[in-house]
Amino acid sequence: MFLLSWHPSFILPLPKDHQFPMVKYEKVKDYLLTRTIVTSSNFTIPKLVPIEILNLVHTEEYIQKTVTGAQTEAEIRRIGFPYSSKMVRRERLICGAMIQAAENSLKHRISFNMAGGTHHAFAEYGSAYCIFNDMAVAAQYLLSKSLVQRVLIVDLDVHQGNGTASIFANKPNVFTFSMHGASSFPLKKQQSDCDIALPDSTNNAEYLTLLSTNLGQITERFKPQIVLYQAGVDLMWCDKLGRISLTTNGIRERDRIVFEHCLSRNIPVAGCIGGGYASDINLIVEAHCNTIISAKEILLKYK
Ligand SMILES: [Zn+2]
Repeated sequence: MFLLSWHPSFILPLPKDHQFPMVKYEKVKDYLLTRTIVTSSNFTIPKLVPIEILNLVHTEEYIQKTVTGAQTEAEIRRIGFPYSSKMVRRERLICGAMIQAAENSLKHRISFNMAGGTHHAFAEYGSAYCIFNDMAVAAQYLLSKSLVQRVLIVDLDVHQGNGTASIFANKPNVFTFSMHGASSFPLKKQQSDCDIALPDSTNNAEYLTLLSTNLGQITERFKPQIVLYQAGVDLMWCDKLGRISLTTNGIRERDRIVFEHCLSRNIPVAGCIGGGYASDINLIVEAHCNTIISAKEILLKYK
C-alpha cells in the first residue's frame, strides 16, 4: 500500500505576497488525483503529535512558549509565519504526518508526508517557516520506541538542514546528510555528519554524480534501517531562493536515485515534500508530483 499523509489544515491562508506557496499542498493532491496517479484511498489523515513526543526533540520551554503564544516578536519574525494557534496546530499535524509516514514506510517500504521538511527548526527555537522539526521528531520517535536503531536523514532541499544537523550533532544513531547550495540560506551552516555544499549553477550531471557517490558510501558505512528523505524541489533552475540549476528531469532523476538506492537494499523511505519557490506554481507542483510518481514506480518495481 502506498500511503500519503495529508491533512486539509496543511493549507492556511497567509498574507498576500507572502513568498511561502501554501496553496501547493492542495494543488499537489489535486494533480495526483486528477491524473489518477493515486486515488483517495492512498491518502491517510495524520494525528496531532503529542507534546511529550515533541519533547523528545524540542525543549520544554520552547514548546510551552509556542503552544501558548508566548513567543516574542523577534522569535516570531525568525519563523516568518504570522503567529496563530492554527499555525502551531498545522506544524504539530506535520510532525504527526512524518511519524505516520515513517511507521507506514516500515510496513510498506515507501510512504510520504505530503508537507513538511521543517529542517530549520532547532531544539530551542524555530526559523525560516519551520516551527517544529518533523524529521527530527519522527527519528526520535522511532528510536524511542525501538522500531529502528539507525536512522539516515537525506536532506536534498537546496537549503542546509541546519536545525536537523544541530539536533543530531554527536548522536550516533542518526546520520545527517545534507546536499545544499553553498550560498543559500542559512549563510552560517551547521555541521551535518556529511555536508555537500554546492557551488551556484551546479547542473544535473554534477549533482547526480555527487548524490550517487555519497549516498553509496554513507549507506555502506552507516547501514541505516530507515531513510527520512527531505525531497525539496527548490534546487530547480528557476527557483527564487535557490541558486542550483537542476531541471525538472534532473530532480526526477534525483528522486529515482534515492528510491532505487534504498529499496534495492531493503531500506524503507519516509519522505516529506520540502521547499519549492519557483515563480510558476505549476512547476513546483509538477516537481513535487514527480517525486510521488517516482516513489510509486520504484515501489512497484520492488513489489
Ligand atoms: Zn528549502
